[in-house]
Amino acid sequence: MAINFQQAEFIRSATAPKDFPRDGLPQVAFAGRSNVGKSSVINRLLGRKNFARVGAAPGKTVHINYFLIDKTFYLVDLPGYGYAKVSKAERDRWGRLMEDYFADRQLMTFGAMIVDARHKPTADDCTMAQWYRDAGCPFVVVANKLDKLKKREIESNLLTIRETLELDKSVKLIPFSAEKGEGKQELLDLILSKL
Ligand code: GDP
Repeated sequence: MAINFQQAEFIRSATAPKDFPRDGLPQVAFAGRSNVGKSSVINRLLGRKNFARVGAAPGKTVHINYFLIDKTFYLVDLPGYGYAKVSKAERDRWGRLMEDYFADRQLMTFGAMIVDARHKPTADDCTMAQWYRDAGCPFVVVANKLDKLKKREIESNLLTIRETLELDKSVKLIPFSAEKGEGKQELLDLILSKL
């Protein structure tokens, strides 16, 4: 299937289940800690600048952004997590919205989880990986900011990520740089193979 990823259209910001599209189109969901570069990864995949908002104040708004790609599938930008300065009320809102999204097994076709290639995944990252596992839908882990690593650090960092998140062999871990474009084709091909 040929898909023009640049053909991207913002559909809506969902704050409640009634806003989730249920038109049967595949949904590819992106999750990640605030500031991990989720917006940058999405922009890189779509070949667009500032489409998903980069550097948006973390934790400010809890919503799920829906983008329709080439009228073929939804790219679902899940709200970031792990930002220290959010209120309990906001964290609760995050939890409810994510639960609503993950609980509806009709929605997600494939998941992507962005982590920082430089660091051991946080407890929140581990929880997120568990959400994907529990959802029973296939997912990929994207180790972003690869450009900030020295060559000799890459292999051991990837191993730490795989072990900390307790990834099964079937889960791909893609070294990625939103900044430089590394890993883009591999992630695009993987997404295409799941639609
Ligand atoms: P989000 O909060 O997860 O959506 O993160 P953003 O996309 O807003 O990125 C957070 C910061 O990380 C910004 O300053 C980006 O420029 C930077 N960033 C994102 N991806 C990369 C990357 O691959 N390499 C480097 N060096 N910086 C990145």
